Amino acid sequence: MTTTTVRDVSVFGDAMAYFDEAASLLDLEPAMRAILTHPSRQIIFSIPFQRDNGSLEVYTGYRVQYNFARGPAKGGIRYHPGVTLDEVTALAFWMTWKCAVVDLPFGGGKGGVTCDPGELSQGELERITRRYAAELVEVVGPDKDVPAPDVGTTPQIMAWFMDTYSMHMRTTVPGVVTGKPVEIGGSLGRVEATGRGVSLVAFEELQHLGIAPAAARVVVQGFGNVGSVAAKMFASRGCKMIGISDISGGYVNRNGIDIAGATAYAQEHHSLEGYRGGEHVSNEKLLETECDVLVPAALEKVLTAENAERVHARLIVEGANGPTTPEADHIFQRKGTVVVPDIIGNAGGVIVSYFEWVQDRQGYFWKESEVNERLEELLLTNFRKVREVAHQRQIPYRTAAYMVAIDRVTRSIKTRGVYA
Ligand code: GLU
Repeated sequence: MTTTTVRDVSVFGDAMAYFDEAASLLDLEPAMRAILTHPSRQIIFSIPFQRDNGSLEVYTGYRVQYNFARGPAKGGIRYHPGVTLDEVTALAFWMTWKCAVVDLPFGGGKGGVTCDPGELSQGELERITRRYAAELVEVVGPDKDVPAPDVGTTPQIMAWFMDTYSMHMRTTVPGVVTGKPVEIGGSLGRVEATGRGVSLVAFEELQHLGIAPAAARVVVQGFGNVGSVAAKMFASRGCKMIGISDISGGYVNRNGIDIAGATAYAQEHHSLEGYRGGEHVSNEKLLETECDVLVPAALEKVLTAENAERVHARLIVEGANGPTTPEADHIFQRKGTVVVPDIIGNAGGVIVSYFEWVQDRQGYFWKESEVNERLEELLLTNFRKVREVAHQRQIPYRTAAYMVAIDRVTRSIKTRGVYA
């Protein structure tokens, strides 16, 4: 017998529910709605590759280029066992709104390979990545589509992607991908950018709510690139980090977790498994810990109709893409929980990807302080704009963020005209 879990429901369907709410408030005409609810291009391909033992296996790769109205497609590549066309399409759809809401000259894209990078050697990962890049040579490029890291991919993987593309082009093209190591055209500050952006938006909203950082108790779910950096930034501003988690479960300590110690532990053991700096709880229980700020920074659909009533946070900042289902979102609205949606909450990463692309094209690299200053300026200016729309129209931040983004993309399409 199979049971239907919430993860089985289409991710793209959920994403569309959010779009619909904003589109109806904008009175979006049916033709524009039709354009925006269809991905421009979806590519599925086979990735045959050699295992270290000499045997051949075939994985499936995806790249969805959702929309190009404002510029080249932009978005990460995910290596995870749960990758499907539906998920990649939803993620590319979100990238379209994320880039637009922070006013970047990009459309939206996303890619992925259905695999478990944890059980692949470096050599196997390199061969998969090179074949993945080779399959996309005609459709990616600095003016076409610019991938980046996402769940399960790293700066090294971006380096292999850039090298493979460059070999095919017979010239070095750093701007084909962002999130690269600094020595081959990566930007200073890119690795920390998503977590930094999460904390910047959280501090801005805490101030608005009249909560001093030193009085804020914070829980971060997920201790990867986004969660661990966000936790570090919260701790550095004096917040009390009372909960963290990873695949091994949650760790709660109401007196405060030593984030530097937890980070060192996770680096040494490749996981928080066995970490003793907090009471070990399940990931579900972690999300229900009473706190001021909750940052889901792992995967989709963790805040659902089943647990939303038991979530006791005043502010939720979405570090992950799509962590809240529409049903849960309605419960939060009713309870008065403030939710900063993914498309602006975690946009710090793609903002610094944009800076990396600009630096690559100019061949001139900025100081880290300059990257961080420009990140703060772009992110908070657009977040304040979203807040203004939300207050004017008495709507949640999520709907306001979609409205700002849809309005910008719609204007670009109308100005360009439709080649029909
Ligand atoms: N994967 C990240 C995201 O979901 C970054 C995308 C990028 O930098 O292009 O926003």
